[in-house]
Amino acid sequence: MVVILKHNVEENEIARMKGILEGYGCKVTVMNGKDYVVLGLLGDTSDVNIEQIQAYESVDRVMRVQEPYKKANRAFHPENTVVDVCGIKIGGNKVPVIAGPCSVESEEQIVEIAKNVKASGASFLRGGAFKPRTSPYSFQGLREEGLDLLKLARKETGLPIVTEIMSADMIDRFVSDVDIIQVGARNMQNFELLKQLGKTRKPILLKRGLSATVEEFLMSAEYIMAGGNENVILCERGIRTFETYTRNTLDLSIIPAIKKLSHLPIIIDPSHAAGLWWMVEPMSKAAIAAGADGLIIEVHNDPEHALCDGQQSIKPKKFDALMTKLKAIAAVEDREI
Ligand code: PEP
Ligand code: MN
Repeated sequence: MVVILKHNVEENEIARMKGILEGYGCKVTVMNGKDYVVLGLLGDTSDVNIEQIQAYESVDRVMRVQEPYKKANRAFHPENTVVDVCGIKIGGNKVPVIAGPCSVESEEQIVEIAKNVKASGASFLRGGAFKPRTSPYSFQGLREEGLDLLKLARKETGLPIVTEIMSADMIDRFVSDVDIIQVGARNMQNFELLKQLGKTRKPILLKRGLSATVEEFLMSAEYIMAGGNENVILCERGIRTFETYTRNTLDLSIIPAIKKLSHLPIIIDPSHAAGLWWMVEPMSKAAIAAGADGLIIEVHNDPEHALCDGQQSIKPKKFDALMTKLKAIAAVEDREI
């Protein structure tokens, strides 16, 4: 980190600022330029309160050299993190696909879809039990009954289950019932929830917030990891832009960005990104080609009557054909589905 002082700052103020910055446990070097005095901080600067430093009148600006996240940072953990869920590895050579309906609606629905996606090669079953809906009058999910039905579908098919948590008071139930706990886009910055999940050792699928920057996204991962839970899988699901044709804008460039900045696996959700079923295939293919570590795809046996997100759900037959194509694309990248 560098702290640039204003023009014509007096010697005693330079010494005072140096002392303040040393108080954070960093080594501080004073560089006297022609017009500016620059204080260079070396060591662990993650505890330095930038806003406080900027409040000093003698400070012109503060610039970070190092990213504010440590545990999620590739600089301190060069090798890829591989999250092992029931023996299925996410972040390694395999590219697992998570598939299933937006919401669990009934026993018949979830079991039938689970059997279909399993036969097509999906590695996990998804299904929302607690749904974060924009309108309080929309279907809110079957809640605890939904969790029971997911467990039933897991028993029938052997597919591990992924479902979204919305509040910290459900953590114990999720830890015992679910294989991957999903944190939805709307809760990416629910820091209390993230802290509590950090105390567990369950794999967490952390979705990118609606308007979150890459740095904010990684800081949310850092919240979970700071508590000791390093089993974090990132998920890009589209972000808000000026474009309204699609539900969100799929930011595929986040894949190489995350690969550079972090060691955590990143998967893509083409369903919520585009919000249109006919875009799921091209966006899935592009994601695998761009190096995604997995996909999460909404599949419904009767999208026209789905209680949530039918417009972006593909039918099992389409999913099956898609998986065949994805296998070929993964092979080009020396990966397997
Ligand atoms: C979901 O996966 O069902 C969901 C609600 O996604 P998101 O949080 O990305 O909107
Ligand atoms: Mn959905």
